[in-house]
Amino acid sequence: MKLREYDLEKGQGRRIPSPGGCIYCRRVPIPPAKLTNEHVIPFAIGANAIVFLDGSCEECARTIQRYEQEVLLKQLGNFRRQIDAPSRTKPKKRPTHANVSFKEVDDRGQDLRHLGLRTIPIANLALALSLWQLPEPRITRPSAIPDDDNGRPWYYCDDKETVQKLCREVAEETGSKNVAMEIGAVNRPHFLRFLAKTAHAYAVAELGLDVFEPTLTDIILNREDDISKYVGGYYGPPPPGSAPENLVNAHIGRAVEGPGKGLITVALQFYPSLGSPTYSVIVGKSLIDMNEHAFDQGYDVAR
Ligand SMILES: [Zn+2]
Repeated sequence: MKLREYDLEKGQGRRIPSPGGCIYCRRVPIPPAKLTNEHVIPFAIGANAIVFLDGSCEECARTIQRYEQEVLLKQLGNFRRQIDAPSRTKPKKRPTHANVSFKEVDDRGQDLRHLGLRTIPIANLALALSLWQLPEPRITRPSAIPDDDNGRPWYYCDDKETVQKLCREVAEETGSKNVAMEIGAVNRPHFLRFLAKTAHAYAVAELGLDVFEPTLTDIILNREDDISKYVGGYYGPPPPGSAPENLVNAHIGRAVEGPGKGLITVALQFYPSLGSPTYSVIVGKSLIDMNEHAFDQGYDVAR
């Protein structure tokens, strides 16, 4: 796969002029409805790294916000507070404690019963991130069989001893044998839709709206539930220029061989310094000669 790097850190404050319509549904709102600014990477992760001026209609923004907020608050909320991620909440109003869920599990780690929430100072929590590990997008795997693309939870924790100590305390208190702590529960469909939305917006920012036939619109707008056909994991060599110090690595390219040949793919990796999974999101079919387009814009794409 030929990929181009865009370094979000260096791109702070990048502004993309309005494409004139919504980058998701392509409609031009009839006044008084209007277009709103759209963050390619949510503000809560990448601040104002890449922003479309007047990039989204209000209706699409509302649809997206429902799942995006869940990802940012429930799945990544505690982690974001721990790393002091960008937040629109004033510092004094930011929560200092987190509600953490515990459960009793059997020897194989299967859930037995929920043990409720404990309120714990965020400063006392181990740094923990929960994401989802996925097989490659199904459209690029000719031998895929139905339901083989669920993937599995992926966790990072920098201090397992602290977690074990908390679990032991809850075990003693509740008379349970094995206790596990839930780290930022992942709602898989919401997280995958969030990946689709981010990849699509990134591709439009890099290439424009008329350069590819989008595959993700129905997924982004909640009209299609088969998400893993286009949203999966990336297992190739690290895309050129990947840097662990970035908050997000984002790359766009086009598969030059294999079953995904000709499809435009965005590779995304959040918080790469933690060894997190890289995602491969098929954003669409190229309508032009991608190499010519990239070359015209001065991109470093091998021919
Ligand atoms: Zn729209």
